[in-house]
Amino acid sequence: QAKLSGRNQFHLFDAEQDQQLRTHHNQRARVRQALHESELCLYFQPKVNMRLGHVTGMEALLRWQHPEHGIVGPLEFLPLVEHTDLIIDIGDWVLQQAMEQLRQWNREHRQWIVSVNIAARHFQSKDFLPRLRKILADYPDVAPERLEIEILESAAIQDIQHVREVMLASQKLGVSFALDDFGTGYSSLSYLKRLPANTLKIDQSFVRDMLDDKDDLAVISAVIGLARAFNREVIAEGVESAEHGVALMRLGCMLAQGYGVARPMPALQVSDWAKSYIMPAIWGQDKDLHWE
Ligand code: C2E
Ligand code: MG
Ligand code: MG
Ligand code: MG
Repeated sequence: QAKLSGRNQFHLFDAEQDQQLRTHHNQRARVRQALHESELCLYFQPKVNMRLGHVTGMEALLRWQHPEHGIVGPLEFLPLVEHTDLIIDIGDWVLQQAMEQLRQWNREHRQWIVSVNIAARHFQSKDFLPRLRKILADYPDVAPERLEIEILESAAIQDIQHVREVMLASQKLGVSFALDDFGTGYSSLSYLKRLPANTLKIDQSFVRDMLDDKDDLAVISAVIGLARAFNREVIAEGVESAEHGVALMRLGCMLAQGYGVARPMPALQVSDWAKSYIMPAIWGQDKDLHWE
């Protein structure tokens, strides 16, 4: 970006900016290298139905196994690339890995849905659909119904007509959608009406304080009401304790994900976790719960 200096002269980059750009450039190149040298991997975090006491699926969450820094979370490196086409390559890789994992779970965990987070730039790219179709076609023994795509509510409303069309076309292929971090994106009721997302995913910031903060409880209650009115599913993320789980069930939200159920884990640990997992007893025993 050109910068107007004090003396009315243009400098393309000042020294400081140049330094910064070079650093960002290097960092992006390093992320690209991580993708190509197989340093990226997926962790999986369970989603459960608290009422029925079973696992409904797993969310794939990106990790970078950095040779020097160990496991690095996505918020440390995705923001560097989310406005470049590298986010599309990473997203396609994540989709492909998720399909691969679904295939490996064909026998033991065939009823699980795997959710993948897709960035706005990726979802809005012109060839999102043909690329998705190709990835699905590469796994003929995995039903597309077992794949869910999570899109940030805030991203979905940026270009609602396009997002709507891509969602509808993807749903025709069998893929379902959740609006992630729901409640933080300022979408209006008319937006929600036009967005055919299957699920609203209540943002963890509301869940975290719901036991102490009446306003957060009110937001959650409203989102659950919206989901019901629009005939969508609703799931809460960031469910850290059985108390949170019970409070959510009381409000009518039966699906949960959070450290109170399990932390994200490497794929290799998932089957053992599923075998030994016992729902917190209290979730199933609250007689006052008004089941639907
Ligand atoms: P998200 O999709 O909303 O995922 C939830 C985040 O909250 C995850 O962080 C998860 O580890 C964390 N979390 C889950 N349960 C709890 C809980 O009970 N308490 C607390 N405090 N946190 C919890 P993570 O893995 O660091 O991912 C952060 C964000 O990065 C994700 O938010 C998602 O937006 C993005 N992301 C993750 N993987 C991908 C990916 O493959 N592609 C893209 N484009 N974005 C991704
Ligand atoms: Mg998500
Ligand atoms: Mg979220
Ligand atoms: Mg989030």
